[in-house]
Amino acid sequence: MQNPFYDPLPIGVLALDESMRIRAWNRWLAEHTGIAAESALDHRLEDLFPAFRNPRFQMAVEQALRHGGPQILSQALHRYLIPIELPHLARHGFGLMRQHVHIEACEQAGRRLAVVSVIDVTGSVLRTEALTGVAQRLEHDVNRDPLTGLFNRRFMWEWLDHQLRQAQRHQYSVAAMMLDVDHFKRINDGHGHPVGDRVLQDLARQLLAWVRESDILVRYGGEEFLILLPACDQPLSREVAERIVRQTRQSSLGGLPVGAVTVSIGVALYETEHPLPSADLLNLADRRLYLAKQAGRDRATMEG
Ligand code: GH3
Ligand code: MG
Ligand code: MG
Repeated sequence: MQNPFYDPLPIGVLALDESMRIRAWNRWLAEHTGIAAESALDHRLEDLFPAFRNPRFQMAVEQALRHGGPQILSQALHRYLIPIELPHLARHGFGLMRQHVHIEACEQAGRRLAVVSVIDVTGSVLRTEALTGVAQRLEHDVNRDPLTGLFNRRFMWEWLDHQLRQAQRHQYSVAAMMLDVDHFKRINDGHGHPVGDRVLQDLARQLLAWVRESDILVRYGGEEFLILLPACDQPLSREVAERIVRQTRQSSLGGLPVGAVTVSIGVALYETEHPLPSADLLNLADRRLYLAKQAGRDRATMEG
């Protein structure tokens, strides 16, 4: 057939017979695969593309030939049908063109053929993935403190009320630890603000390593951190708080000698028998932090 109607279409069009042999191959396919129609006709796709193996496609063609109705292979599941390299996009991790594939039967000269349209959707997939990335970054930024990467207060309020409802429903306690760096002003004054910043960053990283993955770390204020520990009872909260105080004292943070940085912690417990509103829980932890400071710092306080 000379210049069939589908040749100028800006999509790939091929037709297959019941033995999966190619009966049509349009110009778009020839240009994008480098395989001319004369070399494609009468062959199977696996003859042209050695790695071609697609049981889902084969089934869709059989279905279309039997029942006529359209069959769709979406790129979300199948990515592509015809391997077409896109070297200019390789750096985005898109070595191959993403394709939406539509299959429908037609009659030609008394013969039933499956007409396969191949639509390049790489551009829209790239845009969608880029937007998803932007959305994820925005969500990250809006919930995090930029200096330490820990959660911020905004996130904390959302998380805490939800977590306390869960605790009430499933009957477990939640520990809230208010932690403040001792004499931090002296560190800033003695070593400079950038060293102070590095102390906060190192401390944040260490705290993450010292608590469980399910615990939530919040930069609550300048040199004040809040640690929320779900499913943590009185003895465990004491153990964790005292361990954090000891490990901080034994660490070198911000390049300062071991022992230069210490912290004080006030611990309050949300217990399902005496449920405290979230604000009261944090106030109690804060009051106990103040008591720890008054008692000489470098310690955790659980009472008062
Ligand atoms: P205390 O043991 O009673 O907590 O004494 P402190 O010196 O730690 O407490 P104070 O509240 O007097 O000082 C806290 C200091 O923390 C003052 C503030 O300039 C500093 N600060 C707050 N945010 C940051 C920050 O992001 N980076 C640095 N380097 N310093 C900060
Ligand atoms: Mg302080
Ligand atoms: Mg403070």
